[in-house]
Amino acid sequence: MKTTWLSHRSSAVFRVAAILAVTLLTCPLLAQDGCGVEDVDNQDGQTLAMATVSPTPCQSPTPVPAGTPYLPDTAWSTGPKKLVCIRVTLLDKPLRSTVTSDQNALDTVGAKYRVYSRGRTDITSTVIPSGTPFPILRDSNYYLGLGSNCEGRKALHADAVQAAKDAGFTNVQTYYNRIMVHHPQFSISNGNSWADVKGKRIWMNGTMKWRLAAHEIGHSYGCRHAHLWNVTRIGADIEYGDSFDIMGSDYNSADINSIDFNEQYKHHLGWIPDRVNTLTSGKYYNLKIYRSDDPNTLKSSTKGGDFALKFSKDATYDYWIGYRANNFTNAKQGAHVKWAKKTNPESNLIDWVPSTNDPNTGGHLDAPVPIGSTLQDGGILITAKSVGQDTDGTFDKWIRVDVTVP
Ligand SMILES: [Zn+2]
Repeated sequence: MKTTWLSHRSSAVFRVAAILAVTLLTCPLLAQDGCGVEDVDNQDGQTLAMATVSPTPCQSPTPVPAGTPYLPDTAWSTGPKKLVCIRVTLLDKPLRSTVTSDQNALDTVGAKYRVYSRGRTDITSTVIPSGTPFPILRDSNYYLGLGSNCEGRKALHADAVQAAKDAGFTNVQTYYNRIMVHHPQFSISNGNSWADVKGKRIWMNGTMKWRLAAHEIGHSYGCRHAHLWNVTRIGADIEYGDSFDIMGSDYNSADINSIDFNEQYKHHLGWIPDRVNTLTSGKYYNLKIYRSDDPNTLKSSTKGGDFALKFSKDATYDYWIGYRANNFTNAKQGAHVKWAKKTNPESNLIDWVPSTNDPNTGGHLDAPVPIGSTLQDGGILITAKSVGQDTDGTFDKWIRVDVTVP
């Protein structure tokens, strides 16, 4: 671990040096995820709007109990994965897409995941049938009438799997690692696409676009939503608010190729199993953090360096600090500072400039702590010092930060 130990400096000195300081107040406990997770997807599939998930009795899978040790399960999220996309129609609803467009979207997801995971996972997708979608001989009201989003959604998925089996695809449940059902757009699950968190089932409701499919597959890999923490007097949690993250919302399609998974998620998924530097209390650090959004960075296993710094905030959250160098429209480059659950891959990106926070216009793309600025949370001080790149031929980009952990 390349930790540079300097000296223990008082926070008072740092407060003087800080160009700007933001005081973060306590984060209220967030509601447990309820029935899976949801995405609000408009008809055009261009944006993921804001939404909150309410707990329901039909939970899948069982939420992780508070206090459970953080244990990444890399077998589920690394290695080759086989996905089947089962296309279906209902008696009263057609499916408005083609096999080719579905296949292209999922092939794009596979290519993206190879990059996001630094080659540690690969998704091969098969779209069935090759022609007209499997007809399910029920109408949309049947599923809506099952009493809850959960029951209707589960029945629709089961019927689609059965339709595939009836047509001779008898191995869909045993052969494939992920089972996606692409069904016509209707108001099941409030009109959203869904996925089980760390589960095989995925529902694409009407629209199939690679960005939305990548988000839902992220749930199936084990990730929850990437939130934004709006720094106000009492603070506010904004679900989907991290537009830098696959598990957040994309306000602007111009940035769609710059999004990625954040460092906590990549660590949880086993994509950066090492290279996370855990800091300890009572110390001051001056460290480099390498960009986490380029699979070629720190490619050599013999080269030292970290993708993230991590230390405990309280009983519920850890601080995670990362660096992203992909070129977001209007985004200031800086340190990505997050609160992330100790027990789940679920993060809150802290918004450095909350006054501009409007997730619908991308105002929070200034969330990273800019060079020369300090984020202060009680005795915790995080200062972004400089950005640069290594000169050993690899040109690995990094940011240097000072961190005081009280
Ligand atoms: Zn989601």
